[in-house]
Amino acid sequence: MTSGGAATPLAQLQARFGLELISTDPASLAAAGVDHRRLYHGKPLAIASPRSTLEVSQLLAFCDARRIAVVPQGGNTGYCGAATPDESGTELVLSLRRMRAIRRIDPANDSMVVESGLVLAEAQQAAAAAGRFFPLSLGSEGSCQIGGNLATNAGGVQVLRYGMMRELVLGLEVVLADGRVLSSLDALRKDNTGYDLRHLFIGAEGTLGVITAAALRLFPPPRAIATAFVAVPDPQAAVTLLGALRSASGDRVSSFELLPRIALELVLRHLPDMRAPLAGPSPWFVLCELTSARAEDPLDAILQDALGAAFESGLATDAALAQGERERREFWRLRENIPEAQRRDGPSLKHDVSLPIDRLPAFVEAASAWVASEAPMAQLVCYGHVGDGNLHFNLGQGATLAAAQRDTDLLKPHEDRVKRAIHDLVRAHGGSFSAEHGIGRLKVEELQRYASPVELELMRLIKQAFDPNGIMNPGKVLPRSSCAD
Ligand SMILES: Cc1cc2nc3c(=O)[nH]c(=O)nc-3n(C[C@H](O)[C@H](O)[C@H](O)COP(=O)(O)OP(=O)(O)OC[C@H]3O[C@@H](n4cnc5c(N)ncnc54)[C@H](O)[C@@H]3O)c2cc1C
Repeated sequence: MTSGGAATPLAQLQARFGLELISTDPASLAAAGVDHRRLYHGKPLAIASPRSTLEVSQLLAFCDARRIAVVPQGGNTGYCGAATPDESGTELVLSLRRMRAIRRIDPANDSMVVESGLVLAEAQQAAAAAGRFFPLSLGSEGSCQIGGNLATNAGGVQVLRYGMMRELVLGLEVVLADGRVLSSLDALRKDNTGYDLRHLFIGAEGTLGVITAAALRLFPPPRAIATAFVAVPDPQAAVTLLGALRSASGDRVSSFELLPRIALELVLRHLPDMRAPLAGPSPWFVLCELTSARAEDPLDAILQDALGAAFESGLATDAALAQGERERREFWRLRENIPEAQRRDGPSLKHDVSLPIDRLPAFVEAASAWVASEAPMAQLVCYGHVGDGNLHFNLGQGATLAAAQRDTDLLKPHEDRVKRAIHDLVRAHGGSFSAEHGIGRLKVEELQRYASPVELELMRLIKQAFDPNGIMNPGKVLPRSSCAD
């Protein structure tokens, strides 16, 4: 009770839903109040952990009536601070961790319906156990959740073949801010009945409602895989090689990742159990993979022939084909550990950008030249899902500094200047300043700067229509003033 006798929002929540649902356990509050990189800090009012869609609905209706802000939180692996509450101590974190049921798998319809708290790796395993394949694959798949993947429209390493999360969804169950439930879980592949509302929640980062379940698309599992680690002279050669491989393989390229020499060196330096797949040096490498649902498809031979042609035309200078699943996993571990190696190397400035693929080499050249002349103290580590035009354009400080200074973030004072230059160059090359990590609280100003007035106006109207009281994840994606607080 407050001194005036009125119960506080926390006391009201606990009186209505009980301590089992509304926790203030200090360790849980501390964990929910910070992102996985420890860049964003907040102070949750409490953590609500509902067990069913009904409980989510009752919670949101209760919070909406009392204007209690709600921050949905999945695996808390996002990069933009979108799942972290603010410092006010008034925002309720809504954890989906108890809602992880697999409601139904239907191999004949190539679909499954799962609750949004299911961990991505568990969804992949459930599909595999039913003889099907769920293709979303990210470095964080052991802890990120389907709801978080949907709310961020996650990408990952198979986008080239299967698309981003948006393309892997047949329907959603969502609880709106006022507690009403919107459901389209029938897993229909054709349904042209007016506006397709589900797509508004995908990539909305929890600002329009809470996703409680999803009908996901499944595929025949890959039965043949061929993977190669290829040395290429430059990004232009990589882009040309991608086109050549797609043609030569009948469009069976499922991943095509570009990494610079420095990324490989960082991984080898910080993760000593790794080894380089190729003996000689190269300024750039590509990790590419062909997959097919037909076990008898001769993918190794197709890849070998295509790479032979690439050597002759100068698109590639060396290559190693994975000899079996163990070596294939080793190649992928090199790629997947770049973020971890960078983290161990010290602070860095990160930019998750996308370009039309044909303009990507020109962007890399222009942006690298800018870094060399305007931020010469930084070490550029530019890698990514080049098959999707997605680059992680990161500036690290590691190697340029003495060990004693490793933990001091010397690049921080340059952050705004660097970000502006890189994002302006992205815009000039027809790209996006946020390819797959979203907006969260990190890029709210960037969205205001780069989106057109008509886009911003429509986003504000959508926010107001779905969440008129502004309780859903306030201050994320759009500025707080967009909500009627
Ligand atoms: C090592 C590593 C590698 C990564 N690789 C990739 C990659 O290749 N591609 C990529 O796209 N991302 C990648 N990420 C980023 C991150 O893993 C993804 O964005 C992931 O989809 C976030 O899921 P999550 O469950 O952790 O969501 P959280 O971080 O908990 O939340 C993210 C956003 O979703 C909202 N949200 C969560 N659950 C719900 C729900 N049920 N309903 C409504 N809103 C909800 C939150 O409010 C927040 O706005 C990587 C992260 C790490 C740590």
